[in-house]
Amino acid sequence: MNRESLLGRLKSDGDSWDVIVIGGGATGLGIALDSASRGYRTALLEQADFGEGTSSRSTKLVHGGVRYLRGGEVGLVRESLRERGLLLKNAPTLVHPMPFLVPAYRWYERLYYGIGLTLYDLLAGKLGINSTGHLDRGEALERIPNLRKEGLYGGTLYWDGQFDDARLAVAIAKGAADHGAAVVNHCRVESLQREDGKIVGVNARDELTGDEVSLRSRVVVNATGVFSDQVRRMDNSEAKAIIKTSQGIHLVLDGDFLGSDHAIMIPSTDDGRVLFAIPWLNRVVIGTTDTGGVDIELRPKALEDEIEYLLEHMGRYLARAPRLEDVRSVFAGLRPLVRPAGSSGDTSRISRNHEIFVSEGGLMTIAGGKWTTYRYMAEEAVDRAAELAGLESRPCVTGEIELGSEGVGLSGAERIGDSLPYSWNDVERAVKEEMAMTVDDVVSRRTRALFLDVKAAEEVAPKIAERMADLLGKGDDWISAQLASFEDIASAYRPPTSQSPSSAESEGS
Ligand SMILES: Cc1cc2nc3c(=O)[nH]c(=O)nc-3n(C[C@H](O)[C@H](O)[C@H](O)COP(=O)(O)OP(=O)(O)OC[C@H]3O[C@@H](n4cnc5c(N)ncnc54)[C@H](O)[C@@H]3O)c2cc1C
Repeated sequence: MNRESLLGRLKSDGDSWDVIVIGGGATGLGIALDSASRGYRTALLEQADFGEGTSSRSTKLVHGGVRYLRGGEVGLVRESLRERGLLLKNAPTLVHPMPFLVPAYRWYERLYYGIGLTLYDLLAGKLGINSTGHLDRGEALERIPNLRKEGLYGGTLYWDGQFDDARLAVAIAKGAADHGAAVVNHCRVESLQREDGKIVGVNARDELTGDEVSLRSRVVVNATGVFSDQVRRMDNSEAKAIIKTSQGIHLVLDGDFLGSDHAIMIPSTDDGRVLFAIPWLNRVVIGTTDTGGVDIELRPKALEDEIEYLLEHMGRYLARAPRLEDVRSVFAGLRPLVRPAGSSGDTSRISRNHEIFVSEGGLMTIAGGKWTTYRYMAEEAVDRAAELAGLESRPCVTGEIELGSEGVGLSGAERIGDSLPYSWNDVERAVKEEMAMTVDDVVSRRTRALFLDVKAAEEVAPKIAERMADLLGKGDDWISAQLASFEDIASAYRPPTSQSPSSAESEGS
């Protein structure tokens, strides 16, 4: 996948697209893969990097969503479990099964959660992973040694999937490009083209060079997540909002806070939320929150209250409770929920279903849903887009497409940092084959260094900038600008008390 040649195609084929997708998160990338693999001429424009919005900031679960069973959303759970099964089959290097323990501190909890999770297994049918089972106290502690012992009866063990969200986004982008789609990152749609009242294309700007790009297409699909209303208002400035955002944050801790390859799921905290502690790339990710009323931003920032909330509530279930100074990195994401008519303020109760909207001018918007269901969302979206564009109807084939055959990792090569599970080969591949254009693209999404350990990421960033400059033929000015921008981005991942190496230095001097 090479940006220069894809951008070249975008420009040379400017008038002849069947489907243009705006937005390169899970939703848009899925649509590009689906559309291109049906043989439609497809272009995708992402204003930042692939997955840089919500799609790199998830809890990293490929799951049916046990908690939606409580709300009676059996259809959504069944659909998600089917997609979980397909992802485990089609992307085995990026998605893997993970055992989850639901600890029981009340005598009836094992029975109660055991019944719910057995139903979850049944709904998965043939695509199920492993059966739900009961654990006694000793077995629960054997699986997760740092579980709080006082009052523990045992637990329920069930299975779900776990993945690396940004890596899957890149794998889908590559899959789409392999099937002929022109997928371009760092290219922002600024306005829509209209003819006789109909949307017929987009005007975009290459964010790396400032060049303008004009493209025409038979249908334009808006897959911009929390930005959906902004794009809808390029079509109709009076368009009513359909998106309600909700922020969720995660804290990343050292792996020994679980000391296990099992995750913990707390189905209901005393204020009714679901919490997870999940092993991920030798660390533990804990989350999440559900905070309404935050600004819509590409790079949202965790609130101190949210950090305190997670530390306090997760601390109740761990023998060695995490403190602020144990936090290696903090990341925040915004859920693009579809606003139900007359919705209440409580975003945790809004359905995670997706919806498709078509404006009078023919702009198609798809929003809501989950990472887990991206493939099915894309299938529905492309069926509808083909109908709108008058394209020949062709069947969806993404259920059979393999994704991400090569993973990143150490593979015997020199590490980029002592505490980071990546090698310099990964950096080189990111630039040469995965369209990483900025230091942040490499440090945050081709590797997950910034998500795993903000301090280690800041330490290695200058060396990565130099290596990238060599590979991309850039000079010192590029390195300085990249590092300044990265420092700014990294500041949102720092837990409130820790400082960047440079700010600590300047205070000390
Ligand atoms: C805290 C949290 C935890 C979650 N955990 C899970 C989980 O464990 N499992 C799961 O299945 N789901 C999870 N989700 C849900 C899942 O992450 C989202 O449903 C999914 O990532 C949304 O993808 P998207 O493509 O719709 O949005 P995004 O990923 O935000 O993509 C939209 C893209 O559009 C781009 N864009 C915007 N405007 C323009 C423009 N003018 N021109 C070009 N590009 C533009 C943006 O830059 C962005 O990259 C979680 C969500 C959150 C917030």
